[in-house]
Amino acid sequence: MRIANITGRLALVAEDRALDVETASEGRFHSDPAAVFADWESFAAWGTEIDVAAHPLSTPLQASALAAPSPRPRQVIGVGLNYADHAAESGLPLPEQPVVFTKFASSVAGPDVDVQLPGDTVDWEAELVVVVGRGGRNIAEADALSHIAGYTVGQDLSERTVQWQGTPAQFSMGKSFENFAPTGPVLATLDEFADHNNLAIQTLIIGPDGTETRVQDSSTTQLVFPVADLISRLSRTIELLPGDLIFTGTPPGVGMGMDPQRFLQDGETLRTEIEGIGAIVQRFHA
Ligand code: ZN
Repeated sequence: MRIANITGRLALVAEDRALDVETASEGRFHSDPAAVFADWESFAAWGTEIDVAAHPLSTPLQASALAAPSPRPRQVIGVGLNYADHAAESGLPLPEQPVVFTKFASSVAGPDVDVQLPGDTVDWEAELVVVVGRGGRNIAEADALSHIAGYTVGQDLSERTVQWQGTPAQFSMGKSFENFAPTGPVLATLDEFADHNNLAIQTLIIGPDGTETRVQDSSTTQLVFPVADLISRLSRTIELLPGDLIFTGTPPGVGMGMDPQRFLQDGETLRTEIEGIGAIVQRFHA
């Protein structure tokens, strides 16, 4: 099952068709995309049975109308250094426990947005984002997948100067500017993937003249703490809540790790794609 937020209304989607959930369920499920996670299991049981393309009420999917699949998460958890090669390019040792920070929830945005550059050291981080369905504390690794609503694509945009300002550093501030947590284009449930632990993840920078540069190209098989392990470890401290987002870390290829370093500039566009989910796009302005 794939769901989307279409101009603030929850929809089921399949390829180029969309189906409004409140209408198709005759009011059983609310139109608010943020409300669905609290009742995730009954929604998923209903939604999985629907053939969107064949449904008489389905309509053409307008990609430009897509917004964040979980638009108002109460918590947005970021995990740093969760790919071994990215830890190395950051000049930091491989963590023994997940390195955790928050992206404040007001930074969450949809899959196609303009971003005002707050500084000249804004960097990209392609990330697989877990959307929490059923919440909980002290979730066993063996039960962790049953707490996931699905996966979406995210960018953990990071203003590096702010992030590394002071001692200790200010990760959460550097990563929480307006539109610094774009997500989408859809939420895909785990049964949508042949192997949900093995997804190609890529970032392209598109210059003002259309030139494309592939800067990140990896696989989620490289996660130091895989998704189920992460959920278990995080839930020992944090009560996970329906709709929460977990940014699971970025593969190598960020601008900070390049020699010379390279950051996002006025007029550039970032395109981040994860196999089986889709792509998100941000355009940057000085
Ligand atoms: Zn990150």
